[in-house]
Amino acid sequence: MPDHPTDPDCIFCKIIAGQIPSFKIYEDEAVFAFLDIGPLTHGHALVIPKAHHATVMTIPPETLAAAAARVPTLAKALLAATGAPACHVLINNGEEALQSVHHLHIHIIPRSSDDGFTIPWKTTPLDKQSAPALVQQIRARL
Ligand code: 5GP
Ligand code: ZN
Repeated sequence: MPDHPTDPDCIFCKIIAGQIPSFKIYEDEAVFAFLDIGPLTHGHALVIPKAHHATVMTIPPETLAAAAARVPTLAKALLAATGAPACHVLINNGEEALQSVHHLHIHIIPRSSDDGFTIPWKTTPLDKQSAPALVQQIRARL
């Protein structure tokens, strides 16, 4: 039995355990990385802690840090292998934020100018009137 939390119903825990096949690109004592089954772009990969935690709101910081620490090397290898010059690194946390698998995973999504992938990244001006109160509310909870 592993000495970290697992969920027998979790598809990513099953992948780590080898019960479901994956295209593994990296594994060590704490982290597993593999190709996404539904790539948004060529080379889209997932980096996951072996410990089962759902989101950044619930994972121990050091467990997230271990997975994040592998991202620079993995991202460089993905870009070198695919020829993409850029990438997104992102984590969806919660269903409203598009999370569908509730085992925290870091997406590495290689990007090229001609890959046809778009994110509607439409920014809005920060409301400077209400920002100080918001900052205060956040800081009070740290
Ligand atoms: P989320 O929407 O939760 O941030 O991302 C979940 C990702 O996991 C999706 O990109 C989806 O394609 C991927 N995924 C879901 N099931 C499997 C699977 O069984 N194998 C692999 N390799 N990826 C999966
Ligand atoms: Zn899991």
